[in-house]
Amino acid sequence: MKAEYNSTNLPHLIVIGGGFAGLELIKKLNGKSIRITVFDKHNYFNFQPLMYQVASGGLGPDAIAYPLRKIIGPMPNVAFRMAEVLRIDTKLNEVETNIGKFNYDYLCIATGAQTNFFGNTELEKYSMQLKSIPDALDLRSDILQEFEKALSESKTGDVERYLNFVVVGGGPTGVETAGALAEIKNHVLPADYKEIDASKMKVHLIEAAPRVLSSMSEISSKKAQQFLEELGVKVQVNTAVKSYNAKTGELTLSSGEILKTDTVIWSAGVKGKTIDGIPEESITRGNRYKVDAYNKIENCNNVFAIGDIALMTTDAAYPNGHPMVGTVAQQQGRLLGKNILNLLQNKPLKPYKYLNLGSMATVGRHKAVLEVFGIKMQGYTAWLGWMFLHLMLLVGFRNRIVVLLNWMWNYFSYQRAIRIITRPFVHKQ
Ligand SMILES: Cc1cc2nc3c(=O)[nH]c(=O)nc-3n(C[C@H](O)[C@H](O)[C@H](O)COP(=O)(O)OP(=O)(O)OC[C@H]3O[C@@H](n4cnc5c(N)ncnc54)[C@H](O)[C@@H]3O)c2cc1C
Repeated sequence: MKAEYNSTNLPHLIVIGGGFAGLELIKKLNGKSIRITVFDKHNYFNFQPLMYQVASGGLGPDAIAYPLRKIIGPMPNVAFRMAEVLRIDTKLNEVETNIGKFNYDYLCIATGAQTNFFGNTELEKYSMQLKSIPDALDLRSDILQEFEKALSESKTGDVERYLNFVVVGGGPTGVETAGALAEIKNHVLPADYKEIDASKMKVHLIEAAPRVLSSMSEISSKKAQQFLEELGVKVQVNTAVKSYNAKTGELTLSSGEILKTDTVIWSAGVKGKTIDGIPEESITRGNRYKVDAYNKIENCNNVFAIGDIALMTTDAAYPNGHPMVGTVAQQQGRLLGKNILNLLQNKPLKPYKYLNLGSMATVGRHKAVLEVFGIKMQGYTAWLGWMFLHLMLLVGFRNRIVVLLNWMWNYFSYQRAIRIITRPFVHKQ
């Protein structure tokens, strides 16, 4: 049978989310005998690993975002709807969106994760986060606006709060963001804001665990902390954030220290982005859906979850679930594609096992840590490896070229080219 989206006699799969996991799933099912509708509230795929570079002015948003219609357009059996899924009715096999209701035979939830503030409403309201492109653009504006404020109030006011930047969470995102801020301090601030004493800008990285990059080996953690400190970042481990008063700009740490800052960047945790309608008992630790070895949600018949939103405990090497990273999402998407075809042909399904390809983080120019296939690298070679792997992982040839050219420009000029405030950021009151 010719696989076309309009062939209504084909089974209908709805995929919620065109991220790392959802895209790999539909690529596997491209041209196969199944109709697929992909819903995403954005019309682009967001390559989140490079979002901190948008926030720090090194890349424009179009370098890391890729139009979903450009990917889905050529797929004869797949259609895209830009819509937010609001509710799922597993009894009626129906999803409710902001553009209407749609029925499915199979449903796959690939909605990813959202920032976890662990119940701290003050920090949720007032801190900056890095989960979407608008978040990254807000942070870019805020950094530049703080410099402008420091300049205009340098004679009369207390500029400490404008020039103190606090990153909370020493995972890869926190480490990379703190490193990028330190490079702004070292190269952009002295060039663009020569009236400001650059030594007054301080970058703090606060981590509650005993070391940064705790998902990597101790040697990588140590090296990453050393790189950060060489760049001038003040790293505090075994330290948690207690509270934040946005009016006075006072951030209180568990050590009792109070940092004055307008900019708290929260990268201390994520939790699953669930949708109403899936039984409560199917939601587990980290607000993720509990799935079996085939990514089927427990207590549901024909509903699957893949990527960050899914928690699988059947993989013997990962009894507490897999890390919330792009490779897991992609691998689960690809395997579920194969398994759905097996299901349609009454063939046995294959359980998921994570093939860990490694992890990496970059701190700045010539400073990165990389662990691939058990090999650990730090410094210049790791930095080159990090760049190469990220270029390869980007979606779209144009995006790869744009990123490469921007990186070359930034490297030779020591600058972050996109230092523009196109959408001023207003702090919440
Ligand atoms: C700043 C940052 C840096 C990262 N760096 C790395 C890294 O270096 N390496 C790595 O491996 N991983 C990294 N990650 C993690 C990685 O991005 C995630 O693991 C990966 O994106 C998970 O893929 P996913 O498909 O589950 O979710 P996502 O890629 O987040 O996709 C979810 C999609 O669902 C859509 N969506 C959500 N809810 C709805 C709804 N109700 N209706 C319609 N659409 C919806 C969203 O718009 C989004 O497009 C990083 C994450 C962040 C935030």
